[in-house]
Amino acid sequence: MAANRIPRQRQLEQNPAVRAHNFDEVTAPFTPDTARIEASRCLGCKAAPCMTGCPVGVRIPEFIALVKEGKYAEANAVIKQTSNLPAICGRVCPQENQCEARCVRGKIDEPVAIGSLERFTADYARINGVDCTPDKGTLRGKVAVIGSGPAGLTCAADCAVAGLDVTVFEAFHEAGGVLTYGIPEFRLPKGIVRHETEKLKDLGVRFELNTVVGKTVTIEQLREEYDAVFIGSGAGLPLFLNIPGETLNGVLSANEYLTRVNLMKAYRPDSATPVPHGKKVAVLGAGNVAMDAARTALRLGAEEVAIVYRRTRAEMPARAEEIEHAVQEGVVLDFLTQPIEVLGENGRVTGLKCRRCKLGEPDESGRARPVEIECSEFVRECDLVIVALGTSPNPLLKRSDGRLQTQKKGTLVVDERMMTSLDGVYAGGDAVTGAATVILAMGAGKEAAKRIVERIRERA
Ligand code: FAD
Ligand code: SF4
Ligand code: SF4
Repeated sequence: MAANRIPRQRQLEQNPAVRAHNFDEVTAPFTPDTARIEASRCLGCKAAPCMTGCPVGVRIPEFIALVKEGKYAEANAVIKQTSNLPAICGRVCPQENQCEARCVRGKIDEPVAIGSLERFTADYARINGVDCTPDKGTLRGKVAVIGSGPAGLTCAADCAVAGLDVTVFEAFHEAGGVLTYGIPEFRLPKGIVRHETEKLKDLGVRFELNTVVGKTVTIEQLREEYDAVFIGSGAGLPLFLNIPGETLNGVLSANEYLTRVNLMKAYRPDSATPVPHGKKVAVLGAGNVAMDAARTALRLGAEEVAIVYRRTRAEMPARAEEIEHAVQEGVVLDFLTQPIEVLGENGRVTGLKCRRCKLGEPDESGRARPVEIECSEFVRECDLVIVALGTSPNPLLKRSDGRLQTQKKGTLVVDERMMTSLDGVYAGGDAVTGAATVILAMGAGKEAAKRIVERIRERA
């Protein structure tokens, strides 16, 4: 099909000066008109290279063709066959590195806005009450899922669709994992996550909230009661720099900060959860988590928020769109800067001592290595330091059952069937890969569900 000259359609965004002070969603969905116009940019490529960039294999040309015809509910049904969380993926997938990176239209002008179209169809279905709940299969058996993040939710959904009796055990009082406690309301409204978990309940999935596996119940007890167990416990343990002053009042991890604000609703004036409101905030790190923490601090009233990063913009791991949005809202990017000490008075943070860096030879990650410059120390004044330097899996499960094999960084070891060192116990998502992405966690949950269904079917 020949390419038309229609430019890529963009989702409308709240004015940066306004949105930097509210928690409403930053982007508005396509209208039906813009969705159809954008869909008409798709070339309907037979080989569909875009699909090879999607870890769950969404049938992209097929759903986009339906959008073009105005058949939005049908388009959503096509997506739902391979992805149970399109409203979420359409908002937070790093599409520019995945499906859209392989889009042929990108060689002509710009890739088709696959993520925005996916979000449009999912929102359309939700708002119009279109039910895409698939018919349940007839397989019999019981599955326990540990953790209700995207890996656990996807595994639970696919097992339930096969007919299995699924119970999800979640440590927090609300389901959703990082989708609920990490990614802020202004990027992913929590009503959408709740809607998706409610859909799982329609499939018969039960949620045991406030239940910490390894404390409230052991993995061994689950193994005895269930035919298979899936661990999707994520990577929620924050890493720190281990520099002097990190224990001062006014230093906290991005995980704690975002959990207080998102899960415990500390941004609402009526919330009982305290959260520090810094005037001058330094956020250490340059990934999505750092961007979310910085933009949240602005919305909580900070006068100045700086991302402190030892490399440059080219090496920043955050999504391009998140960096752009943060800068538009007023977040300052302080590059080639290595924090070396948190300074304080009377136990409270007053500043961050830093050293300037230059870029050297690439390190094992392939990125240019930051090299500190001697005698380049300076102090950045701040009253709140948020540490967003990455996370690793919580060691609780491993400590509670020493037979679970882990790698050096605490990630669970699984074989090619996604089974851990314990027979019948599968794992996937951040607990296995370390901190990654929503769609990779979903892909892992999907694959594990397939293996669990095979195992139970073979034994039936
Ligand atoms: P999680 O989402 O971490 O869920 C694990 C769940 O297990 C949690 O609810 C936890 O409470 C529960 N749990 C842990 N231990 C136990 C236990 N012992 N018993 C019971 N329950 C337990 N990815 C993107 O693709 N795009 C983004 O824009 C993006 N932004 C991000 C922003 C932030 C702030 C963060 C923190 C991450 C972001 N990510 C993003 C990464 C993405 O959210 C994760 O890769 C993904 O959520 C991992 O899914 P998971 O299911 O493996 O684990
Ligand atoms: Fe692209 Fe994510 Fe949708 Fe797959 S799930 S098509 S990667 S936006
Ligand atoms: Fe459409 Fe791009 Fe996929 Fe081709 S590669 S089918 S243009 S979305």
